Amino acid sequence: MSKMTYVSTRSTAPALSLSGALMRGLAPDGGLYVPSRLPTVDPDSFAGVAGLPALARRALRGFFEGDALEPMLGEIADAALDLQAPTTPVPASADPLYVLELFHGPTAAFKDFGARFLAESLQRLRAPSEAPLTILVATSGDTGGAVAAAFHRRPWVRIVILYPKGLVSPRQEQQLTCWDDNVASLRVDGSFDDCQRLVKEAFLDPALARKHRFSSANSINIGRLLPQMVYYVGSSLEIKRRTGEHANYVIPAGNLGNAFAAVWARAIGLPIGRILLAHNANRAVPDYLRSGAWEPRPSIPTLASAMDVGNPSNMERLRALFPTWEGLRGQLDADSIDDAAIQTRIREDYRKFGREWCPHTATAAEAYSRLPAAERADKPWVLVATAHPAKFNEIVEPLLGKPVDVPESLARLLGLPQRLTDVAPELPAVAAAIE
Ligand SMILES: *Cc1c(COP(=O)(O)O)cnc(C)c1O
Repeated sequence: MSKMTYVSTRSTAPALSLSGALMRGLAPDGGLYVPSRLPTVDPDSFAGVAGLPALARRALRGFFEGDALEPMLGEIADAALDLQAPTTPVPASADPLYVLELFHGPTAAFKDFGARFLAESLQRLRAPSEAPLTILVATSGDTGGAVAAAFHRRPWVRIVILYPKGLVSPRQEQQLTCWDDNVASLRVDGSFDDCQRLVKEAFLDPALARKHRFSSANSINIGRLLPQMVYYVGSSLEIKRRTGEHANYVIPAGNLGNAFAAVWARAIGLPIGRILLAHNANRAVPDYLRSGAWEPRPSIPTLASAMDVGNPSNMERLRALFPTWEGLRGQLDADSIDDAAIQTRIREDYRKFGREWCPHTATAAEAYSRLPAAERADKPWVLVATAHPAKFNEIVEPLLGKPVDVPESLARLLGLPQRLTDVAPELPAVAAAIE
C-alpha cells in the first residue's frame, strides 16, 4: 500500500503528509486539506470490534497510511477516544428512532472528540526542543471549552480563546473561562465573525507571527474531522446489527464539520443511507440546495448559538467531493429551523418521548418531524445529539418546566473560578492580551 497524501481543496498548494496537514491546519492557498483519494473499508471486517479506540484503529488506518503518526494511531485513539458515544433507541416513538449521544465527554459537546484527538496527535509530532505553540481559537461556544480541556496543562502549547461577549450561554462561558496555567480566555466585544477575523489577522500580522508560533484548532483542521468519523462507524454498524438496515442521520449543522465526517464515513463504505442537515435560521446551505446559488452571509444569533455560522467553512470540502450542485443534492438534504420551532420541539419531545434536547439537538428533532410520515416509518433514523441540555439550562429548563440534571464532568467545571480578559474587537487589543 502506498502513502496517503493530502491536497488543498483549491489544489494549488503542494500535497502534504497527514502530519503536515495536521500541523498546518489551513493550506497556504487558503484551501482545506482533503485526502488525495478516499480509502475504503469493508463493514464486515468490523465484526467483533467494539469501542471507539478499536473502531478508530481499523476505520482510520487508510488515512494514516505511510505517515509518521501511523504507528501511533492506536495509542492516540486509546488516549483521545476513551469516551462513550452510545446510539440509544427512543422506545416511545412509533417509528424506528434512535439518538447518537455525543455529549458524554469532559465538556458535554461533540467537540471533545476532535479536540482531544488533535491534542494527542500534535503532542506526538513535536520535537521536545521546539518553542511552544500558541493556538488561537475563535469559538461560538463549544469549541473553545473542548480545546481548553484537551490542551490544558500541556507544557508545549499555549491556548488563547476568543469568544463573543453576551453571545454564549452562561455555562458555556464558565467552560471557556475556568482554566488556568496555559489557557487564556479573551471576551471580545463583538460577534463570532469578529473573533474569526481577529484570529486571521493575528496569523497574518508579521510582527506577531515572528514572536509566536501560531497554530489553529478550528474545525478546518483535518485532525478534528477524522476522529468524528469514528462515532458514525460505531453507530451505523450498531443500527445495521439491530435492524439489518442502513442508518439515516439528522445532524445539527453549523460549519459542517460533524456532518462532513458522516459523509466521509458513508463514502469509505459504512452502512449509512440519507444524511439530513439541520441548520438553525442561518440558512445558507438549505438555500443553496434548493436554489443552486451559493450565497454566504453574516451570521445571525439564534438559540442554537454554536451553529450560528453564515459561511460554513467545510462547504469547501463538500464541494470538492461533490463538484456539481446536482451531485451534492443527491448526497444531502437540509432544512432550516427557527427559534420558535426549536422551543416547541424541546417542549413537545419531552412530553412525547421523555427526552431532553439541547437547542442544537432540537433542530435535528424538528427536521426529523418534518419528514414525510412514510419516510419515518420506513427506515431507522438517528438524531445526532451534539450537546448535553444542561449546557443550555437557561433555555431548556423553562421549556421543560423542571431542572436538567448536570453531568458530573460538567458540574466539576462549573465549580471552578473564572478568569478572563475583556478586549475590544481590534487586533492591537488582542495582541496586547496575548503578550
Ligand atoms: C459546533 C456545534 C454544532 C455544529 O457543528 P459543525 O461541525 O460546526 O457543523 C452543533 N451543535 C453543537 C452543540 C455544537 O457545539
